Amino acid sequence: MALFGKKADKQKPGSVNFDSSDEAALTDQIDAWVSTNRPRLGEVLMELGIIEPGDVEEALRLQAEETEEARKALVAAAEAEGQDPLDPSMSQALVPVKPRVGEVLMRDGVLDEVSLAAALSRQFGVPLADLRVESPDPEAVQLVPEELAREHVILPLKFENDRLQVVTADPFDVEAIRAITYHVGKVALRIGARSEIERHLDRAYNVLSAADDHIRAFELSYDEPNQENRADNALQFDENAPVVQVVNRVITQAVRQRASDVHVEPTEDDVTVRYRIDGAMTDAIHLPQRMGPAVTSRIKVMSELNIVERRRPQDGQFGVSVDGRPIDFRVSIVPTVHGEKTVLRLLDKTKSLISLPDLGMNEEVVDKFTKIVSSPLGMLLCTGPTGSGKTTTLYATLNELRDPTKNIVTIEDPVEYQFAGITQMPVTGSGITFADGLRGILRQDPDTILVGEIRDEETARIAMQAALTGHFVLSSLHAVDAVAAVHRFTDMGIEPFLVASALSGVVGQRLLRRNCTGCAESYTPSASESRMLERYSNLTPVWTKGAGCELCSGTGYRGRVGVYELLVFTDTIRDLVVAKATHHEIKAVAIEEGMRTMQQEAFDLVAKGLTTVDDVLRSVYAAGMDSDAAPVGELEQGKSELPVGKRAISGLQEDSEMDDDSLRDSRGELVVDRGGAIPTGPSTVGASASGEGES
Ligand SMILES: [Zn+2]
Repeated sequence: MALFGKKADKQKPGSVNFDSSDEAALTDQIDAWVSTNRPRLGEVLMELGIIEPGDVEEALRLQAEETEEARKALVAAAEAEGQDPLDPSMSQALVPVKPRVGEVLMRDGVLDEVSLAAALSRQFGVPLADLRVESPDPEAVQLVPEELAREHVILPLKFENDRLQVVTADPFDVEAIRAITYHVGKVALRIGARSEIERHLDRAYNVLSAADDHIRAFELSYDEPNQENRADNALQFDENAPVVQVVNRVITQAVRQRASDVHVEPTEDDVTVRYRIDGAMTDAIHLPQRMGPAVTSRIKVMSELNIVERRRPQDGQFGVSVDGRPIDFRVSIVPTVHGEKTVLRLLDKTKSLISLPDLGMNEEVVDKFTKIVSSPLGMLLCTGPTGSGKTTTLYATLNELRDPTKNIVTIEDPVEYQFAGITQMPVTGSGITFADGLRGILRQDPDTILVGEIRDEETARIAMQAALTGHFVLSSLHAVDAVAAVHRFTDMGIEPFLVASALSGVVGQRLLRRNCTGCAESYTPSASESRMLERYSNLTPVWTKGAGCELCSGTGYRGRVGVYELLVFTDTIRDLVVAKATHHEIKAVAIEEGMRTMQQEAFDLVAKGLTTVDDVLRSVYAAGMDSDAAPVGELEQGKSELPVGKRAISGLQEDSEMDDDSLRDSRGELVVDRGGAIPTGPSTVGASASGEGES
C-alpha cells in the first residue's frame, strides 16, 4: 500500500493523452504508443521491490509453458475440425495468445493487482488512479455509455483541462484506447486495478439511478385502483412497462452488489427497497407507495403465484439471468398493515463451493470434525440461526465426502448447489415434507444422507433411526449453540437416549463481518473492549478496524468469516444427555473436554484483527453467552457499556423459516441460558420477515 504514497509520487509520471480530432492522427498516436521503448515489467517490479529475480524466471518459464499448452489446444481443435495443422495456410490461426508476465505472476500469487497497477504506471509513465479513494464524477460517467465502458473495462473518472480522464487496467489495450478516444474526443490515461475498475463500473452505472424515469412513467400512467385487475394482466405481457423495468433494475443491482436478500417493504409513506449485503441491511431505493401493489404483482407473475391473493402469505421462486449469470430467487410474500411485503433470497448457482479447509475452522476442530464425518454411521448437525452459514458448512462437508463407491443422497429445500455424483432431491414447493422424502430415500440404500434441515419430531426421529442403522446423516437445526441442539430435540419429544446414541457431533456456528482489507487501521480500544477480549481470548490483540473506504462502501467491513464450536459426543457427554443434564452442565463438561466456544473463537478472531468486538456482540456474544463463560453480574456491566440489547439476539429471531413452536423453544432457552440477564421479549419478534442468505 506504501506504493501509492512513496514510489508513485517520486516517479511523478506525466500525462498520456490521445485525441481523435483526426482518425489518421489517432492511429499514428496509437502506433507511437505501442512502439515506445519501455523497461520490461519484470525489471520495474524488481526495482520497486515487489518481486525477486527468481520470480521473473519462474514467470517466464510458466509463460512459455502456458503458451505451448495453448498452442497444443489450438492444434487439437483444428484436428478435431478435420483441418491439417501442418498446412502452411493454418500457421496464422495456430499462433496462441501469449499470457502477459503480469497475469502469470498474479496467478502465481506473487503479485497482487494494486502492485501490478503501480508497476504498470511506472513502466508506461501513466499516472495511477487510487480507486479506493477516488471515485468517478457523474458528468464523466454520462459521457461514456455503459456498454462501451464495460466491454473495454474502462472507467471514466473526471473531466479535467478539456480532457476525460479514463482508467484502464491494461495500458497496452489499444482497442480500448481507440474506442474510448473515438467516442469522447480527448482522453488522458490513468491506470488502476482491474477489479477496482469493475467495482466502480457496477456502482457508477447503478441501474437503480436510472429507475427514476420509469417511476415517473408509472406515476403518469397510474389509474385509480379499480383498474387494478387490468393492470395486473398487462404486467404479464409488457416487458417495457415501467414497473417491469423497475423490478428488473432492483434485481440486477442486487446481484451486482452481492446482496443475499432483497426486501420490498411497504411503509406508511413509501415502498422501501433494501438489500442485505454481508449480513447488514442497506437502503437501495424508495418507490412511491402506490407502486407497491404493482411491484408485488410483477414479482408474483414471475414466481407463478396467485396475484389476486393478497391476504395470505405465499412462497415461490423464479430464475433469471443477470450479467450472464443464472440466479435463482426464492420469494416470500406476507401481508402487513401497509400492504404485502416481499423478500427475495438470491441463490447464485455459479457461486463456487467453499472447501472444508477454507471454512476457517481452527486445526483442532478440523481434526475432530474430519474424524466424525468419516465414520460410516452416526449424525453430524450444524446449528445456528438463518444466515450463519450452515448450508455452506454442510456443502463443504458433502463435497469432502464425495466418493464414487458410496450412494450419497440429499433432500433439500431448495437445492442451492448441484454436485456431480450425488443424488439431490428438492422438496421446495412440492408439498413433500422432509420426513416423506427421507422415508423414500431410505428405501434406496443410501450410505450418506443430507437432510437440509430438521424442523419437526417426525424428521428428527427418522433421521436418528437412520444414523443408528448404518447410515451417516448430515443435517442442520435452528439452535443458539451446539449444546442447545440436545434440548431442541428433547423439546420436540425425542427421548434423551435416542439423541445420545444417534448424534456424533454438533457444530455451532455464526458468520462475522470481516474487517475491510482496504481500510483497516489500528486504533485504541475502549476499556470495555480490552476487558472483554481479555476475558475470552489468550492471544495478544492486534486492534484494527476498518475506517471505511470505497471498497467497503464506507462500512469498514467486507466479506465474512465463520466462527465454530464443535460438541463431540463422547461417552461422558452421552451419559449427561441420558441423565437429562442442563445446558449449563453439558457445556461445562464439553469445555473441560476441550471444546472451545464460539465466543472464545470469535474473540480470537478479534485479537487477530479479522473482525471487531462490535460485530462479535452483534452476532455471537448474546446468543451463546451463559453463566459459565461470564458471571451474570459482569455481563450486566459489559452490557451497560456496549450496545448489546435487542439487536444482538435478532439473528435468531429474524427467521421466517422457523415455526411458532421452535421460536418459543429457542426463546425459552435464551432466557434460561443467561439467567434472564438479557431482556428477550416478544416485542422484537417479527421485526423483520426474513433472515439472510446462508452463504
Ligand atoms: Zn474499506
